[in-house]
Amino acid sequence: MAQILHLECSKCGDGLTADVPRNVCLKDGGPLYVRYDLAAIGKIASPETVKDGPTSMWRYAAVLPHVDPVSLGEGMTPMLPSRKFPKLLIKDEGLNPTGSFKARGMSAAITMARHYGLKELAAPSAGNAGGALAAYAAAAGLEAYVFMPKDVPLANRLEVEASGAHLTLVDGLISDCGRMVAERKDQEGWFDVSTLKEPFRVEGKKTMGYEVAEQLGWRLPDAILYPTGGGVGLIGMWKAFEEMEELGWINIGKRPKMICIQASGCAPIIKALHEDKTTSEMWPNAHTLAAGLRVPKAYGDFIILDIIRQSGGTAVAVSDDAIMAGVRDLATNEGIFAAPEGGAAMAAYRELLKSGFLKESDQVVLFNTGSGYKYLDTFADYWGVTAVAAPLKLPSSRNIGGIIGPY
Ligand SMILES: [Zn+2]
Repeated sequence: MAQILHLECSKCGDGLTADVPRNVCLKDGGPLYVRYDLAAIGKIASPETVKDGPTSMWRYAAVLPHVDPVSLGEGMTPMLPSRKFPKLLIKDEGLNPTGSFKARGMSAAITMARHYGLKELAAPSAGNAGGALAAYAAAAGLEAYVFMPKDVPLANRLEVEASGAHLTLVDGLISDCGRMVAERKDQEGWFDVSTLKEPFRVEGKKTMGYEVAEQLGWRLPDAILYPTGGGVGLIGMWKAFEEMEELGWINIGKRPKMICIQASGCAPIIKALHEDKTTSEMWPNAHTLAAGLRVPKAYGDFIILDIIRQSGGTAVAVSDDAIMAGVRDLATNEGIFAAPEGGAAMAAYRELLKSGFLKESDQVVLFNTGSGYKYLDTFADYWGVTAVAAPLKLPSSRNIGGIIGPY
């Protein structure tokens, strides 16, 4: 396992020690990247040694912190060949613990929190990150404080409560939840594990990049389609590609086009890309059935935009109707019951084929970021299915204002 050299600011490049828990750069608030001595790692670790590792993301321990992991078996999810499109591969992250890719980031973040001796952790969540935080905190014996919009999918609320975490439902969006954590954390003694305000969630997510390479025989595809809310999946995978090039595990300069998928009702990255801006603006009245995409402004927006441009990728917005058609598409054609975010990626793939940005001969990896089983209320609502025995109290509206209050 790797010794950490330092934490490097993504804005000013300053280095900070990893001896104490850190959130962001003290000078400019930039997210921190964990840096290792890759030259030293390259001498003892290789794709060959990875093969002997556990069937989880911790098989990449050579490039993760040298700490006893808190693991529920996350990672090494299947990458299934599409039954409809010859060169399309579907990476099904719905098979992770807690049913989403968020498990990877939280496994790494909670591992480090326990290592640092932290006791109480807090985070805002659009849904699945909160569930993952609650589960991993429970596994590590730590206290978790989760703030989520009050109309998140029911599964997210129930899993947080079942894990014994402290749940606050907020009449607002993830940005409002984030503000509440920021306002209260010092007074309450919580450590903030918000997306990109905690350096190790990226480390967990980067294992998706290592896995795609390993599952393709240490090559990268032509393009990656990624549903993007906070964008840490994209950021993590890009870091993995950088590291693997430096380690000599993959060829240099063969990186995929990174394609960001958002919902038409919340598409701040796409707007910024089209307007040639380096950061995004807060998206007003963000609304979409894909709860994970309802992030009106990502903390790492400038990194996401830079990656899309560097990679020659693009960004696509899809409507809620197209998202739900994408869910049906994946279920009927592939046998995968995907999260709405996965449905969005499927809809975007078809659109990109139509527009000619992608060809059927391009090798594309499409990420389904979560399981459809976590969105039963969303689907039932949209498809007009009513439970017979005990009707669910469904959220009446997903387009909500900014009044905040604990419930
Ligand atoms: Zn900085």
